[in-house]
Amino acid sequence: MANNIQAFTIIFMGPSGSGKGTQAVLLSEKFGFEFIEMGGIIRAEAKKETELGKKVHQVVMVEGKLLDDQLTYQLLENKILSVPNEKNLIVDGYPRTVQQVHDFTKLLAKAKRQHLTVFNVALSDEAVLERLSKRLVCDNCKTVFIASKTIKKDGKCVKCGGQIIRRSDDTPAKIKARLKWAHEQVEPAIAEYQKQGVLVNIDGNRDIEEIHQELVTRVEKLLS
Ligand SMILES: [Zn+2]
Repeated sequence: MANNIQAFTIIFMGPSGSGKGTQAVLLSEKFGFEFIEMGGIIRAEAKKETELGKKVHQVVMVEGKLLDDQLTYQLLENKILSVPNEKNLIVDGYPRTVQQVHDFTKLLAKAKRQHLTVFNVALSDEAVLERLSKRLVCDNCKTVFIASKTIKKDGKCVKCGGQIIRRSDDTPAKIKARLKWAHEQVEPAIAEYQKQGVLVNIDGNRDIEEIHQELVTRVEKLLS
């Protein structure tokens, strides 16, 4: 199966608060796919005492900014190339901008990954605002808890026992700033995938289980 070209790559687009990260994890667990999460790569890098690690720490943790495209790509490239191309792969948190879409297209070609599917979990600004104002995250593993019933009774993370907190950037002003960024930067990237014919729109205004079931059905079709 070394030359199996049927393996596919799945990425998720959509605003923060759409639940796309949760769906990416659920889908990779359901099918046992390889899983790469950009946020996790960045956090791991920021902990390293290397020159690159210190730079990432400064930009992301201290200044609270997004990494530039070049640095982001640098962190992602080896991760993608380390996954055998006969294995199905889910990538979450990348690409976000048109430039990153172009970078990612080149990277997939380099990795000899020809089959790309983009799930766009769409959600209105109003729904994003409402959800994010209620959002809680684990301070340790960064798992997002929108429905509080999934948190242990003592307020600790069900996955790792970490502290459950409200993110300091989940204030209405900061959420609106992120939405503005999404409209300006992410929407053109989504349009680019629409043009390429690989975009699948998913209604994000449903509960987690319902969206998951739709994604499972769609992935089973890809696999058949
Ligand atoms: Zn946790």
